[in-house]
Amino acid sequence: MAWIVRLVKTEADGEERCADVMKIDRPDDLADIADLGLTLAEGKLLLAGLQQEIVAAQARSHAVRRPDCRICAGVCHVKDYRDHAVATLFGQVTVRLPRFRCAGCGGIEAGIEWPSHCRSTPELDQLQAHLSALMPYRVAADFLEQMFPVDAGKDPETLRRRTWKIGEVLRNDAAARPETTAPAIVVTLDSTFIRSCEDGERHLEVRVGNVETESGGRQVFGAVAKADTDIKVLIRRSLDAVGRTEDTALTAFTDGCSGLRRILADAGVTGTPMLDWFHIAMRLQHLKQIANGLSADDPARAAAKAVIVEEVERLHWRLWNGKAKDAQISIDRIRAVMHHFQGEQGQRKSIAPSRKLWTALHALDGYLTGQSDWLVNYAERHRAGLRVGTAITEGTANFLVNRRMNKSQQMRWSQRGADLLLQVRCAVYNGTLGSGFGQRFQPANDPHPQAAIAA
Ligand SMILES: [Zn+2]
Repeated sequence: MAWIVRLVKTEADGEERCADVMKIDRPDDLADIADLGLTLAEGKLLLAGLQQEIVAAQARSHAVRRPDCRICAGVCHVKDYRDHAVATLFGQVTVRLPRFRCAGCGGIEAGIEWPSHCRSTPELDQLQAHLSALMPYRVAADFLEQMFPVDAGKDPETLRRRTWKIGEVLRNDAAARPETTAPAIVVTLDSTFIRSCEDGERHLEVRVGNVETESGGRQVFGAVAKADTDIKVLIRRSLDAVGRTEDTALTAFTDGCSGLRRILADAGVTGTPMLDWFHIAMRLQHLKQIANGLSADDPARAAAKAVIVEEVERLHWRLWNGKAKDAQISIDRIRAVMHHFQGEQGQRKSIAPSRKLWTALHALDGYLTGQSDWLVNYAERHRAGLRVGTAITEGTANFLVNRRMNKSQQMRWSQRGADLLLQVRCAVYNGTLGSGFGQRFQPANDPHPQAAIAA
């Protein structure tokens, strides 16, 4: 069997114009399920054929428009035609448009309302950036080529260039202010590291964070340290985007880094940031696991292990209940019995648990000593229904940074490249990446998207 796909253009005056787009040959028996309907290759050809016809018709209509001379306002005549190659999601098209010469003064007009510098459509740029935000440039390029009749700009370098360009636009984008204001906002700021390809630097520091309101409004932000994006500007813009006003109560959480606390203060989050319980809990969890792994192969060790397991529990209780000053008591009690594990063998080639415990304990001790000013009574906050931290931060860091830029993927990043890609990833997460950037897409993660869409 065969089909002809014919495109019929209807004019305002009722006139019709036909063009055959494609002939499709398919078997008429269904013995092979692979013969059912169209193949991907045929689908791509069909889309490309439709695109060519529609673009050609649009160019024909556009070409009849005559500009007035900018110099003498005289009448313009067609001088010659120029082909403009434009990459679209449905293939490369050639837009054939006239150039004009003024009959009066001889001046040359390029044509009217045509962005002659454009080499691709915004929709293609946006999709390329969106996919590049989620997967490596090469994979994104392959994926687009698999799915769409994209025959231009499918080079990974092109995707990288367009993604960076969109990242730059997003960085300078103004905040979309919602109609509703937020009485309270929780701000979290954290940092993580990615591998660097810059000379003399092994890692790049990436700062990520989010702002959240009680009604569920949420925005994430991120920037590579020392790159061109000012994280303080991003924080202020995120606060505005979820409805900050002069009366909004701001609560901040961060990990122990003093640099992050300074950034928050500089961004106008002036209240003392609390140490995120999440960071403490992670360290305690680590300590508990090690304590439980200690050997109890003689009575002295069994007794010492029991003391350590109990003291780690007590340490947890003390930190949770705002008694960080007493943490030292627990740490000293653990140290006092640790000699029982001297000579403990690690299983196979792994380090002995007692050795790990010593290291983890030392790290926690140092951490708490430096952080005592930012530890609060987490239990009291929790009972009052207040936040003690945001485990979300870890998820945010994972989504924004690790899944695309992680060390395990063996990728090395330039400061600028990572920073601009991060702007696009944040926009994908926030649902603010749209073609033309004026359009706000429904965010995938936001349970209350209306606030973000308004404005
Ligand atoms: Zn003229």
